[in-house]
Amino acid sequence: MKVIFLGAPGAGKGTQAELVSARLHIPSVSTGAIIREAIKTGTEMGRKAKAYTETGALVPDEVVIGIIRERLSQDDCKGGFILDGFPRTVPQAEALDRMGITLDAVVSIEVSDERIIQRMSGRRVCDGCGASYHILYNPSGDGEHCDKCGKALSTRRDDAPEVVKSRLDIYHRSTEPLKDYYAAKGILKLVEGQEKVEDTTALTFEALGVR
Ligand code: AMP
Repeated sequence: MKVIFLGAPGAGKGTQAELVSARLHIPSVSTGAIIREAIKTGTEMGRKAKAYTETGALVPDEVVIGIIRERLSQDDCKGGFILDGFPRTVPQAEALDRMGITLDAVVSIEVSDERIIQRMSGRRVCDGCGASYHILYNPSGDGEHCDKCGKALSTRRDDAPEVVKSRLDIYHRSTEPLKDYYAAKGILKLVEGQEKVEDTTALTFEALGVR
């Protein structure tokens, strides 16, 4: 299955993408996680991307399209994949079409801006493997360390309230038009984000026809 997750920053698309990935045994590809890793290790792409991500701006299309083209050509993506955070603009979606990829579904997790702003302050990310948690909705076992790799959890710099506001504006302006783009192809599924992760997951599986 080839699936895209859309949604505002903090809507929970990364969490749902991970859960669907585990259930369907297909990789979840997060451009945000790939970019954060490149920044951490100081690659050339990471150095270029750093200034954009810190202010909440989008990294230029040609950079992320290159990341995705390379990642999707790897063997583990042959049997399907989930895209979390790509595409984020219409030119990115058009580039994906040009790669000859036929998508099965595009799931948009719908959450209001007010709830997003409330939620973002509680988000935590693992410094080691990049796994995402939330202090209320999806806490790690001890609240401070990652359940998967044991490293410390921290707050993302781009989750600061003023950056969140700007990321939401960018989402509405640049990414939300993708809902019309994929609705026109007949593959858009809207999922109302719920308070509890497992409730959103149940709706997501239903939308994808996964039992
Ligand atoms: P995320 O973890 O998906 O919220 O992504 C974190 C940051 O990485 C975003 O705020 C952007 O700066 C950058 N980024 C991730 N995916 C994309 C994309 N598809 N296009 C442009 N920038 C992206």
